[in-house]
Amino acid sequence: MYSIAELLRKENTKDRRIRKEHVQAIKADLSEKKQQILQDICPTCGSALVNRKGKYGYFKGCSNYPKCRFVSRGA
Ligand SMILES: [Zn+2]
Repeated sequence: MYSIAELLRKENTKDRRIRKEHVQAIKADLSEKKQQILQDICPTCGSALVNRKGKYGYFKGCSNYPKCRFVSRGA
């Protein structure tokens, strides 16, 4: 039998591990998107990204706009 303190510790450990895996998954996802953006590929729909000039300077936008509204600023 586990004591309540042991159970709580077990739960906390499990929880922390899940959270860490979650963060890593997000990070992996982000870097994959970044790679696609660097190659001028829209990570949302796979179309080419084009340079656009907006109010606040240049940014990369999806060539599929307005169907796809992906934009990348300062990437
Ligand atoms: Zn797109």
